[in-house]
Order: sequence, then structure tokens, then C-alpha cells
Amino acid sequence: MSSPTSPSRTVHKFGGASLADGAGVRRVAAILRERSASRPVAVVSAIAGVTALLDAQAREAAQGALDLAPVRVRHRSLLAQLGLDGELCNRHLAELAAVLAGVRTRGRLSSGERDHVLSFGERISARIVAAHLSNIGLRAVPVDAFDLGLVSDSNHGRARVLASSAANVKNALERIDGIPVITGFVAADADGRLTTLGRNGSDLSAALIAEAIGASEVVFWKDVGGVLSADPELVPAARVLRELTYDEAAEFTRFGASVLHADAVHPLMRSRIPARVACVREPGDEGTGIRGERSGARCIGVACRRGLSRALVHCANVGQARLKLEAALASASIEPLHIAANDDALTVVALWSDELGRALLELGGRLEIERELASIAAVGCGSEAERVLDALARIGVTRRDAWRAGERATLLCLVPESDLPRAAAAIHAALFAPTTVA
Ligand code: ASP
Ligand code: MG
Repeated sequence: MSSPTSPSRTVHKFGGASLADGAGVRRVAAILRERSASRPVAVVSAIAGVTALLDAQAREAAQGALDLAPVRVRHRSLLAQLGLDGELCNRHLAELAAVLAGVRTRGRLSSGERDHVLSFGERISARIVAAHLSNIGLRAVPVDAFDLGLVSDSNHGRARVLASSAANVKNALERIDGIPVITGFVAADADGRLTTLGRNGSDLSAALIAEAIGASEVVFWKDVGGVLSADPELVPAARVLRELTYDEAAEFTRFGASVLHADAVHPLMRSRIPARVACVREPGDEGTGIRGERSGARCIGVACRRGLSRALVHCANVGQARLKLEAALASASIEPLHIAANDDALTVVALWSDELGRALLELGGRLEIERELASIAAVGCGSEAERVLDALARIGVTRRDAWRAGERATLLCLVPESDLPRAAAAIHAALFAPTTVA
């Protein structure tokens, strides 16, 4: 049991890619075993690919198809690789089958049912990880976040956790003996209906749980070496950043760096809890530390977003159109990346969706829409704007737009999605390795 003098605990979050197979779960267990004396708290995602699989099955069930085999096989194969009882997930799989059967009978999927279906990914992975820990002699308990008292609003698919949850989570965790292996991503509303926090929401769960217990550190364990200066699939020359302030990390994720959930930094920042992004394959490496503050901006890296559209709305009263559009987007929970108005047109850059299309049509002006665009944010590099724009010009990529945003002098360029890899690589090279640019 914890006492006021007991040292504070660390929270360790493991993503789905780290739990993809038996070797992955063994690496996770070794990390927790090494830290078991300091009472670590584990937060886990669903195993790699399972959330997407569940999502597809929920939709298919509404269309009359019900095939649980892929989800069953994924988990059974992991259990077999770990030498665990193949029946371990049966109770959850049966409950999942019942929910999907209900969806199929009604022929429609509510957002609440979708969350219920998605929740099984984390609920099952927490059982598997805890069972493996027990198997190697560590005391471990799988914990559903909703049983800990993580209460959210009822906004299914993008629920927000209520601040009042913190005290319950803290008390409940103190009563658990052994390593709690907590489901990320899921919560429940005040009526006990399951909710989810949005894709990649386990990072946010870990940050909120760390805040609730006053953790001394959160480690986000990934299968990359830390926060990189760009997505390595787009920019092979991307390098690990050793230190980021909370603000820098928040801005980097906000503009598209997918290494952490964009909202996960905020609880850490407000509670001054240091975080680290480290690699499960190299647990001795420091990775990237996220803490503290810095005055002034510095060039951090390149963050990208795909699937964007740029709309120009030509209308008589641009100011009024802007207000109307902002209200429509807010009620549809669409966050535009950029809105700008000049004398005769409104410019909007946002992820393309049917709701966005409808909101634009309702403005009644003449519309020009370009889709399949991507943004490249040179985060913190606003003072290097010329170098960024020159780099694009040199490789012959026509930018559709460019603007500054954020609090740390970030410059964003909008380019055709098909040009994204070479444009991102050119901008990254211009900013971080000027001497190697041809
Ligand atoms: N399993 C959920 C997802 O894939 C949440 C997470 O991984 O953080 O989005
Ligand atoms: Mg994930």
C-alpha cells in the first residue's frame, strides 16, 4: 500500500506495435520486470492492427456480415506464442460476438456500439500482458480503465475524460497490489456506457492516469528511438530529438507528428510531469525527454498531414461567411488547419469529409475545392521561411498555399499529396543538413 512517504510511481505506456507478437510482449515484460521494485503502472493499447480490425467488423456487422475469426486468430496466436491458455480471451470474445450479433440484427451501428466493439482490443490485450507477467512470476492485474473510475463525457469516438476522475483513479490504483495493466483508449460515461478517446488515445489515457497519481515520469514506449525530426517513412534522414519542451512537443503533434496523441502533452504540461519517448528494443537509451520550457522558438522538425482539402469560397460578405462556417465546423467537430479571409474570398484548409463539403455548400457562395493535398509544417522554423520555400521551388513543387501558425513560429506549406515525400525530404534537408542539399 502507498503511504504519503512512498516514492511516486512511473507510468509506462506500450503501443500496439510493441505488443504485436510474443517477442514484443516479452520485451515489454522485461522492461516492467526491471522496474518492478518501483511499482510501475502499465497502460496498454490493443495489439497491432486489432482496433482497425474491430472497426471494420463493426461496420460489416451492420451490413449483415459477422466473422470473428480474424480477431480470434490474432489473439489466439499471441497466446500460443506466449505459451498461455488459449481460452484466456474466450469470455471477451463471446461478449464481443453478442454485441456484433445485436448490431447485425438491427442492421445499424450506433456510435455507442462502435465504442463497445472497439473496447475489446484493449480489454483483451491487458489480459494477455497481465497473464504473461504473472506467468514469469510478477504479480500483475489487468484493469479496465472504466473500473478505475476514468469517467468521460458521452461523446462516443472522441470522448473527453472528466477532471473529477482523478481522485477515483488515484484511490483505486492505490488499492491494487502488483503491477496494474490498464486499458488505454477506453473510458465510460457517467451512466456506465463505454466510450473511446479517439484513435491513438492510449497515450492520452497514460498521461491522464499519470496526472491523477502524481507520477514522477511517463514513458511512452514505441518501436522507434524517440521523437524524430520527421516521419522516417517520408524522410529517411530524420533523426531523434533528444529534448523537447512541453510546448514544442504539443506544437509538433498538433501539426501532424504522429509519435504521440496530440492531446497527451497537455495533462503532463499542466502537472509538470516529465515524459520520455523511448524504444522498446533499446530500453537503455534515453530516447526523447519532454519537459520544461524554453524562451523563443527553435527549429524542431517537419510534421505532415495528408488528406487535406483547400476550399475557396467567393461571396459578398466574407466576414459573415467566416463566422457561419466556423460555427458549422465547430458543431461538426471539424478543426480546420487554416482559415483566412480577404476582401472577396474565404480560404479554408481542413481534412476532407462529407460534413465539410456540406458546411461549405451551405455558405451559398461560388466554391473552388482542391483535394488530395498535404501540409508540411516546419515547426519552430518560421525565421527560416525563405529556406523552406526555396527548397520547394528548387525541386519544382508548386505550393498551393503557405501560412504561419502556432506559438512557435511554425510555417506551413500546402502541396499536392503526391509530392509529399520529396517535398518533406527537401524541406527537412534544407533545415537540418543545408550542406548536403544539391
Ligand atoms: N488501439 C487504439 C488505436 O489503435 C488506441 C491506441 O492504440 O492508442 O487507435
Ligand atoms: Mg497506437
